[in-house]
Amino acid sequence: MLNIGCHLSAAKGFESMGKNALSIDANTFQFFTRNPRGAKAKQIDQKDVQRLLDIIHQHHFAPLTAHAPYTLNPCSADPAIREFALEVMKEDLQKMELLPHNYYNFHPGSHVKQGTKKGIALIADTLNQVLKPEQTTTVLLETMAGKGTEIGRCFEELRAILDKVELCDKMGICMDTCHVHDGGYDIVNNLDHVLNEFDAVIGLDKLKAIHLNDSKNPINSHKDRHAVIGGGYIGTKAIVKIITHPKLCHLPFYLETPNELEGYQKEIQLLREQYDAVFSLH
Ligand code: FE
Ligand code: FE
Ligand code: ZN
Repeated sequence: MLNIGCHLSAAKGFESMGKNALSIDANTFQFFTRNPRGAKAKQIDQKDVQRLLDIIHQHHFAPLTAHAPYTLNPCSADPAIREFALEVMKEDLQKMELLPHNYYNFHPGSHVKQGTKKGIALIADTLNQVLKPEQTTTVLLETMAGKGTEIGRCFEELRAILDKVELCDKMGICMDTCHVHDGGYDIVNNLDHVLNEFDAVIGLDKLKAIHLNDSKNPINSHKDRHAVIGGGYIGTKAIVKIITHPKLCHLPFYLETPNELEGYQKEIQLLREQYDAVFSLH
């Protein structure tokens, strides 16, 4: 069965996200740990969390992904901004243990004129301060489009971060299809080649999740503007190849397409049909 969900609003709490996921035939979802500006997280209602855990277990959900605020920059040149990223990640990871054995995804950050090498060292340094041997959460580095001085456009940069992290078994990668495409990897015409490259540089065992998005811009544009499935330069055919690829088809896929719940429901239905057709599940 295809493990698919989408990004959901956490505004109405945890159980509400579980119910929304069920209402659109998703069996996983992604949510922000706090608002994207990185403001203070709301107090967590443990009963609400428990009701979500009941839904997850009852309906055999694939792992969930909590997304860190995308405004965090653990490799900023400003120590106060780095400290803020550190504190948010520490607190988020502590809270994630209420939802054990799931994923926490973050954008590696932008090195802002300090250079890639310095940026990589600062990101790894942050991770070495927040990761704990006893945590059940796997922390995911997201592949980036390469806007400005973003780190994580190429697989080598992500590998270099992992190499510097002491508790590397707590780490994984989330591949965003819009980002890798905009970053210059030809997942439309040469998916096998891209996956072989990923395997050679990072190792496919580290690939834990996929952000499934079409792209409003051509390959190598370094833009990062998501399109609905079939509404961009990647296209439905390539997206279906991704979800049904033997090396990827077991992973959780999260849509981050510009949609409301209804649009997500349609995309999930379409992708489930395509997946089942390829694997002759009907
Ligand atoms: Fe992201
Ligand atoms: Fe993403
Ligand atoms: Zn993006």
